[in-house]
Amino acid sequence: MTESKLTYQIHIKGLVQGVGFRPFIYRLAIRFGILGTVDNRADGVLIIAKCPLIILKKFILAIQNESPKAAVIDHVDFQDIQTNAFTDFRIVKSQDNPNSKEVTEISPDIGVCDECLGDLKTQTHRIDYPLTNCTHCGPRFTIIKALPYDRDLTTMKPFPMCEQCKKEYTNVLDRRFHAQPVACNSCGPHYSLWENGREIHDLHKITNRLTKLITLDNVVAIKGMGGFHLMCDAISKKAVKKMRHIKNRDAKPFAVMFRNIECLKQYAELDQIEEDAILSWQRPIVLLKQKKQLAKGITNGFFKIGAILPYMPFHYLMFEQLQTDVVVLTSGNRSDEPIIINEIEIFNEFTKDIAAVISYNRAIHNRVDDSVMQKVGDGMQLIRRSRSYAPQSIVTKYSVDNIVSVGAELLNTFAVGRAHRAILSQHIGDLKNAETLNFFEESMGRFQDLFRVNPTTIVCDTHPDYLSSKFARGTGLPIIEVQHHHAHIASCMTEHSLDEKVIGIVFDGTGLGDDGNIWGGEFLIADLASFRRITHFDYIPLPGGDKVTKEPWRTAVSVLYKSYGEAFMEMDIPFVKQLDKAKVHFMIQMIDKKINSPLSSGMGRLFDAVSALCGLTYNSAFHAEAPMRLEDVIEEGVNGSYSFEIEEIIRIDSIIKAIVNDLLANVSVGAIAARFHNTLVKISVSVCKQIRNKESLNKVVLSGGSFQNKYLSEHLMEELKIEGFTVFNHQKIPSNDGGISLGQIAIASKILEKDK
Ligand code: ZN
Ligand code: ZN
Ligand code: FE
Repeated sequence: MTESKLTYQIHIKGLVQGVGFRPFIYRLAIRFGILGTVDNRADGVLIIAKCPLIILKKFILAIQNESPKAAVIDHVDFQDIQTNAFTDFRIVKSQDNPNSKEVTEISPDIGVCDECLGDLKTQTHRIDYPLTNCTHCGPRFTIIKALPYDRDLTTMKPFPMCEQCKKEYTNVLDRRFHAQPVACNSCGPHYSLWENGREIHDLHKITNRLTKLITLDNVVAIKGMGGFHLMCDAISKKAVKKMRHIKNRDAKPFAVMFRNIECLKQYAELDQIEEDAILSWQRPIVLLKQKKQLAKGITNGFFKIGAILPYMPFHYLMFEQLQTDVVVLTSGNRSDEPIIINEIEIFNEFTKDIAAVISYNRAIHNRVDDSVMQKVGDGMQLIRRSRSYAPQSIVTKYSVDNIVSVGAELLNTFAVGRAHRAILSQHIGDLKNAETLNFFEESMGRFQDLFRVNPTTIVCDTHPDYLSSKFARGTGLPIIEVQHHHAHIASCMTEHSLDEKVIGIVFDGTGLGDDGNIWGGEFLIADLASFRRITHFDYIPLPGGDKVTKEPWRTAVSVLYKSYGEAFMEMDIPFVKQLDKAKVHFMIQMIDKKINSPLSSGMGRLFDAVSALCGLTYNSAFHAEAPMRLEDVIEEGVNGSYSFEIEEIIRIDSIIKAIVNDLLANVSVGAIAARFHNTLVKISVSVCKQIRNKESLNKVVLSGGSFQNKYLSEHLMEELKIEGFTVFNHQKIPSNDGGISLGQIAIASKILEKDK
């Protein structure tokens, strides 16, 4: 055939809706002189292109190389077709087929782009317009109520475009062409400030008043992309003290927003990988090593800070006025409750504590917290996967169609499956909180509607009392129960597209084991369908049951008793000397008589015990505080470790005795912390080598909440690699219970496949 002008149909799958993809295609088509159409389909984007084959190939290459930053192209194919003649290239209206098997991706929210920041200063109708956005940036998931992604199905519906915005929206060469939330000063939503019955609507008066309030050490509530934040000056001790008082039950370190990257660099150390992450369009909170002290109380004694840069136009406009270079920006909620998204709730919750509320009248439909990440090894690792990541899907090698997994109970996320994609929810939180459980149920319904999932199987943890498990049973759907730590390993495997037998190390807080005990220091051989427990850290009785997570001293008493018997009471170490002897005797009786003293091999508990023994965390004020403090004090450059014994199980008494000896010899807590961590690394490498010798497995997968411990993760990965292992750790999916739903859905898919 001669190289004549044929017509081709190009099908692009991936995250290509709501990210400026169609206008991008249009501009490319004009550049290449291609005639035809582009439109959104439920399964991606469909292009009809009339052009010579050689041009078509260049066109497709350009699509792949130049696509908008938030777009993710998973698949491109093309075929020639018969069709009518074209005289131009145009974008045609969204077609939607509810019966389509394919998945429509919904774009996560995108931090404001540089061009829009420029427009704030140059476009007359958009001067300092605090909700400026374009096809490359702005809200997406947070404002979407239904698909297809069109303005009428978002919370922008109440704001009809003015003539000027409409011109931009319909001009294919404009950056706002088909930008659904497009708006300006004359037609868009606007900000307001409320203070003691006073209302201000003028933007400059708002930022002036805000500046005054912040300078005078007040706390204000301010609406972000996915919910309200509480904000105050991060340099002022008085302001931070006030903030601590407001969040009184929440002793977690506060995140801080810096004016810009230069200011950030004065306070924190960061390398190129961390800098790229903090400047990325996702604008996550990044945990960094602190260089210069912020106001006391922000980090609550930790050497790390959670830093974030401005991501909404208002943040930039606010810093133009603010005198301080850095503000505390913590989520607007009482601890454990979901982030608040409307003014009334914010007023009800915080009236007495805050000086003002700053909000805008575009509703948030789907709430999202800021995402949190840290660098581990050479890559970044998400700890909380929420704003700007959810609801991006994870591609699976096998079908997860119409499977729904409900996740764990703490740090909950859930997942819905369509075709070969698992769509993870945003961070939901602790389901034991009633408000959070409502949030879970509401979001679960929304995800099923949005992604058109008709669940045929529901997956939950084997723990019968998890509220997520109870929810699953309540649906009446066929249930698959998945062991907690198997789900952890499967989660990390799915992230890395592994579908084979691997060595799995799960270092975790808790999770119900198959023997009825609490697991969490586990070495498994696992594939996606099944697992075998090879060995584990020795069980520790937990006198008081659930109480121990808030009172690590109990677990410390338990490990001392296990290692020394009652003789430990005479020990000359500060931890023992401060104990209430009567209470301790009572606890020993509980342990001996097995009253409310469940057995746990959880790594989190061993960390709790050592942290308490070292005098770091007698009681714990927030989830995982004790392990975090133990990691935080590690003295750099300490290479020593303690001797250990592995029989059928990994004994802990020799480790505890070695730590006590160090304490008696006045060895620094920093050195003890390092030796303890190093010991865990050595044990793990040794167990992996034994398993490799027996089973010829060489891939090691790391999962569980304890691998949020950067030192432990990095040192273990390094040592395993030296021994020739291939190691996989979490990057895109949290290693904590936020990743459980992904593991559950993968395992269920494999079990169903086997059953067929
Ligand atoms: Zn923009
Ligand atoms: Zn307008
Ligand atoms: Fe877990």
